[in-house]
Amino acid sequence: MVAGPRLAYSTNVLAVVGHTHQRQALSNLVRYERLPSSLLFAGIEGIGKHAIARELARQLLCQSLPAAPQGGCGECKPCKLFESGNHPDIHTLTFGTDGASVDDIRQILERLSLRAFMGTRKVAIFDNADSISMVGANCILTTLEEPRPENFFILIASNPSKLPSTILSRCQRWFFDRLSEDEIRSVLHARGASEEEMALAALADGSIGALSTIRARTEHADEIIAVLDAAWRGDLARITRAAQEWGAEKTTLAERLNFLRMQIRHRLVINASDPGAAAVWAHALQNTIDAEYVIIDRHVNPTLILLRILQGCSHEYATAYQMTPNRYPSILEALAL
Ligand SMILES: [Zn+2]
Repeated sequence: MVAGPRLAYSTNVLAVVGHTHQRQALSNLVRYERLPSSLLFAGIEGIGKHAIARELARQLLCQSLPAAPQGGCGECKPCKLFESGNHPDIHTLTFGTDGASVDDIRQILERLSLRAFMGTRKVAIFDNADSISMVGANCILTTLEEPRPENFFILIASNPSKLPSTILSRCQRWFFDRLSEDEIRSVLHARGASEEEMALAALADGSIGALSTIRARTEHADEIIAVLDAAWRGDLARITRAAQEWGAEKTTLAERLNFLRMQIRHRLVINASDPGAAAVWAHALQNTIDAEYVIIDRHVNPTLILLRILQGCSHEYATAYQMTPNRYPSILEALAL
């Protein structure tokens, strides 16, 4: 069977979307042979950090360097091998649950100590580097401390603060922002997404990765949108029922909170020109961000927290909040945490 466009997309470096300035700057550094040997790509999940790392790697391994364009020429043997997943000088490890082990790291570092199979350069991509173990981090550190000029390391992390400072200090850090709604739409378009999926772009919170969660949980989506509408109307009975149901379902609570946050963020964006509504949604957004911490770390009853978030989403509250914002403390302030 021929691979469908979806599969082709996931490995094709040319499908990278957005982050134009950083990609151009990285490409120029390669061209002028000024690229540092260790890089850290930071930014939230699902915005294309891995794809950018691959784009950069392909340029580094392209035969037509230094003239190679951004992402490599795509025509030479190394570029073709790269695309087919068979280039011997690109090594990728993914950390996290069931991810790469310390032995995997040692194996790759050993291969990096040998001559390149093709050309001169070798590239290692460490995905979810923020989930690396202490022992693993120490292995990598030794190599980062004495880099060989032909080796390049790209560490990818959504939470770089979890990395040891010894590693952080040896990497040049590159930050990648959320994607715009239009950029998400163009990725979806390239993937041949349905109209229904395209409509979710506004709720993706700048992350392609978030879309799969949203798609899988559209039943939550419809329900959450309906409850937020009820909250805005001041329908206390409906929001109390929702807070009780959601609070009791421990397994789906994190997903619901996540979606609630995305939906509230969306309402904040579309109501930017209405100061009363914008204040309410901004306040609610802060509450949803705090909610996770309060529920998980402080073991506060989730129903209570959800009710507090939803109560703060009413039209009536919007008017009152605008006049006396100080009378409406955030969840953290109210609980004095
Ligand atoms: Zn090439």
